[in-house]
Amino acid sequence: MSEPEFIICNECDNPVYVFEWKDGRISEAVCTTCGNDKPALFTTDEEYGEDMASDSRYDPSE
Ligand SMILES: [Zn+2]
Repeated sequence: MSEPEFIICNECDNPVYVFEWKDGRISEAVCTTCGNDKPALFTTDEEYGEDMASDSRYDPSE
């Protein structure tokens, strides 16, 4: 996956534009709205859309 323009904070659903992207995933991010700073608690907009469209999960890195 290429670097997205923004990511979504899972805690407050707001877009975050300042983050570190490494090896196809989020390595560092801080939500300025709610203070969430755990990379695992952010979603890319691509994943966000896929979750809305389908429950099937496929991660080629695993
Ligand atoms: Zn947030």
